[in-house]
Amino acid sequence: MQKPPFVVKVDLKLDCPCGQAKRAEKLLESGYVSITQTAPPRIVAAVIDCRQSFQPLHDEIKKRHKGNFLREAKKASHKYSVATFKPSDLADRIEEINKSRPVRCGATMPPDYHRSADELRIAYRNEPWCNCRDHGSVWWGVFAYDDANGLVGYINLKRYGDLALYSTILGYGDRMGDGIMPLLHLEIMQDSLLLGDNGINLLMYAGWYDGIGKGLNLWKRKAGFSPAWLFNK
Ligand SMILES: [Zn+2]
Repeated sequence: MQKPPFVVKVDLKLDCPCGQAKRAEKLLESGYVSITQTAPPRIVAAVIDCRQSFQPLHDEIKKRHKGNFLREAKKASHKYSVATFKPSDLADRIEEINKSRPVRCGATMPPDYHRSADELRIAYRNEPWCNCRDHGSVWWGVFAYDDANGLVGYINLKRYGDLALYSTILGYGDRMGDGIMPLLHLEIMQDSLLLGDNGINLLMYAGWYDGIGKGLNLWKRKAGFSPAWLFNK
């Protein structure tokens, strides 16, 4: 593993004719990606290099924390399945998941997570917001066999050029101990969307130091993420 933070060049494709560059520019403004070649970004990002096959990542995760993450995912695979879905179709379940724990990682849930199913349906009516090759949004869900295949956790994966990111990631409170989120993360990584010849070079999951000492940073370590400074080409 490289010493933190290592430097990664990303290409957010800000001049894309799809007109979605504004969303990517928010990333620059919020401090995750530097546009100058001299000053580092304000935030150290948590990333996984996707220019590799799944096996080296699997091996790296196996080395971290005695491979607990892989065992949790395997346990979950007997009771849950993973698939993409349309968020406006499952707004009721998303509301339940969002409200299933008022406090996570020591912080109360922000107002966005208190929205009703009707509000969520309206918010998600335009998903996916872009279908160009370089920009878009995909919703991945984990579904419970014992609950008529109901949604119990989700990750919204957004793409900006060669950078993909976990923009929202949440599981049903009482099911977290089942390893649903490790299963979901590994299935996404294994799927053709990442770690393949699809133009995605990097996966980011917010800041490396977010939630440090409160479980979130540990989760990222176990999941294979490393700290990095991101510079837009
Ligand atoms: Zn585009």
